[in-house]
Amino acid sequence: MLSSLLRTIEQGFGPFLSSAGDIAFLIGLLMLAYVILAPAIRIFVEMQAANLGIEREWIMHCMSCRRMTVVAGAECEHCGHNLGIPWTVRLRQFFSRGSEPYWLQVSRWIYTGLGVVAFTLITIIALSASGAWSPQSHIEKLFVGLSLLTWAGLGWLLGRVFGIGTGGPISRVRDAIFSLALVALLLTTTTLASAARPVKETVVAQVRVDGQVAQLGSKAIALVGYQLGLEYLHVEHSFAGFRHVTPLAIVGARRLELPLGGRQSDVVDFLWKHAASLTERGLAVRKRTDQFMVVESGIYEIVLRGDEISIRQYASPS
Ligand SMILES: [Zn+2]
Repeated sequence: MLSSLLRTIEQGFGPFLSSAGDIAFLIGLLMLAYVILAPAIRIFVEMQAANLGIEREWIMHCMSCRRMTVVAGAECEHCGHNLGIPWTVRLRQFFSRGSEPYWLQVSRWIYTGLGVVAFTLITIIALSASGAWSPQSHIEKLFVGLSLLTWAGLGWLLGRVFGIGTGGPISRVRDAIFSLALVALLLTTTTLASAARPVKETVVAQVRVDGQVAQLGSKAIALVGYQLGLEYLHVEHSFAGFRHVTPLAIVGARRLELPLGGRQSDVVDFLWKHAASLTERGLAVRKRTDQFMVVESGIYEIVLRGDEISIRQYASPS
């Protein structure tokens, strides 16, 4: 439903979507590069400054001796006069990074560095595993670009929420709320991106139908009433929105198994053996048979498109 709507949009706005997709993808990549490189560069510059012995301190004008003093404690470093700093200001200074002991600086570099590495790894794995790195259509590229942009924004905000010295408690709560909003947006854009991705089609097998006989490879079965049955293993987790279909056999008067890869057949055997307990846990495992009319003699292809299994006539005998 969603995919066909997106396909219609793609057909209607083709040229516009082409440039919009390119721009969104490029901006998304630039934002990602910024979120990954900016902290890395900052760590590098801070290390240089630390090696030179440059430190960051709060300073103020002493009202008693009228000189600039470093705010290290409650008193002026020159005349010892009480500076009268209220606790609210001290609290703010505690959270906003002033002078930092070297061990804290080093832990912050390591902590930030690990965060950036984790973010980069998750990004690379997600991009390559989902196939989003090479979008198949303009509209998919557009939504992948928007997802990259949202993901970069989320990474930046999470860095502020969990970072050391990146703000006080109030700004962290605010950033956390923005992060949640971005998570919702990211779910939307990635759902749209995957719906916009053209479904890959696999021809599982070819069946030659001749009158009331269906032939698969060298084996043949009799059909009843020109009906060809397709048996498949149907695995579904409705809560997670997961659905997977594995074609198993063609069915007429008897059943003829389709060739499965060794690994695939092990998985099917395992799922079927534990079907009852898996179904109890929410992963519904069942075998289904769909019946198709094959009145006309000819070659039929069994086609798997995503999680839909169907049959179509490939050629008629001349
Ligand atoms: Zn003073």
